[in-house]
Amino acid sequence: MTRAQTLAGVVGSLADFDPNALPVALAREAIERFITPIDSVELVPLRRALDRVLARDVISPIDVPAHDNAAMDGWAVRYADIDSDNLKAFEPIGTALAGKPFTGTIAANQAVRIMTGAVMPAGCDTVVIQELVATEGERIIIPPRRQSDRHPGQQHGQHRRLRGEDLSAGKPALSAGRLLGPTELGLLASLGVADIAVQRRLRVAFFSTGDELRSIGEPLDPGCVYDSNRFTLIGMLTRLGVELIDLGVVPDSPEALEAAVQSASRQADAIVSSGGVSVGEADYTRDIMKRLGEVAFWTIAMRPGRPMAFGRIGQASYFGLPGNPVAVMITFLFFVRDALIRQSGATPRPVLPVPVRSTTAIRKKAGRTEYQRAIAQIGKDGVLQARLTGSQGSGVLRSMSEANCLLVLRHDQGDIASGDLVDAMLFDGLI
Ligand code: AMP
Ligand code: MG
Repeated sequence: MTRAQTLAGVVGSLADFDPNALPVALAREAIERFITPIDSVELVPLRRALDRVLARDVISPIDVPAHDNAAMDGWAVRYADIDSDNLKAFEPIGTALAGKPFTGTIAANQAVRIMTGAVMPAGCDTVVIQELVATEGERIIIPPRRQSDRHPGQQHGQHRRLRGEDLSAGKPALSAGRLLGPTELGLLASLGVADIAVQRRLRVAFFSTGDELRSIGEPLDPGCVYDSNRFTLIGMLTRLGVELIDLGVVPDSPEALEAAVQSASRQADAIVSSGGVSVGEADYTRDIMKRLGEVAFWTIAMRPGRPMAFGRIGQASYFGLPGNPVAVMITFLFFVRDALIRQSGATPRPVLPVPVRSTTAIRKKAGRTEYQRAIAQIGKDGVLQARLTGSQGSGVLRSMSEANCLLVLRHDQGDIASGDLVDAMLFDGLI
């Protein structure tokens, strides 16, 4: 475990760090350096290990597959017996099924009927697929090695999977810090692993701030809105596989905010709040945070987004997101998501941008990163193209819902002409 360091120390080590005009990449870097992974291991049955973080390297106890075996249905033979140019008769001497090996020994010009997955009989090195083999009375006819107009040709060792070709005994199969997905569950099952050491789930407390917010079920008084941020957060946090601690709506009062933050920091590894960090509201938030922990207030060169608070309160990392619903989702995606994965003990895999052709011109100011909601689809020319969804207002969740990607207009980029390639981040699995 890396030693906890101060945020001021981290920020001080980054060149050109300006908290009032902070490029997205630099903010991400500061967060990445500051986050300390938890280290608290528990054993879970494999079937419950999806989305958990592997706590220890897994060394393969066995070879997978454990034996050379057939990759196709056909006939197992000795390659040396196959004629180089002509068809040749072989004598069938038995059958090898998956799970039921052939136990006899093979002599010259003999063949064993073999099914996919069956252990290769001792002495056999090659499988000839059944479609190429004819029968002639008691005998079978194996095609020649050499390829010709009439025969496709046979190679030494074909259609045979080698022992240990997937995983070999004593070699690392998966490294600690790996986020376990469906593939990893299958891979661990192929090793016969029943229980697996994973990091405990990260506990994440979250709340919304604002006197104007009403919870579902409450009457919507004049000038009020329903609290939607907690629900986008519930969705995004659930997808991360963390434990949720929902602290509800906190009114705009210093006492209430302080109580919520203290309660959150006692229960959680990470705290996510929305609202109350914009310039007008940040003053008393700032005072409280300063007293309770080390929290910095940043203005990030991005749209939507901009104001964000980040730091640590007690043992918990703290993310103070803006209030606007779309800004919450975008700042969560670009700052909180990877940070929580890292804090869970895993290394986040980068979400790779894909190039898409913008079908419209987009005004873009250099010096900030802009995120535009868009719909990407394959164009007539086979190239991905994207058009913006309706209103890009940072409060408009509907256009976020219509979108299937974000166009990520990079920090240094200026105006985009129609037909230009831009980076897109597809929502698949993210939102
Ligand atoms: P704030 O950052 O607190 O000034 O909020 C900015 C805007 O986002 C205001 O219009 C708020 O009403 C709105 N907002 C803040 N929190 C929420 C929330 N939890 N659900 C829906 N809208 C919100
Ligand atoms: Mg507010």
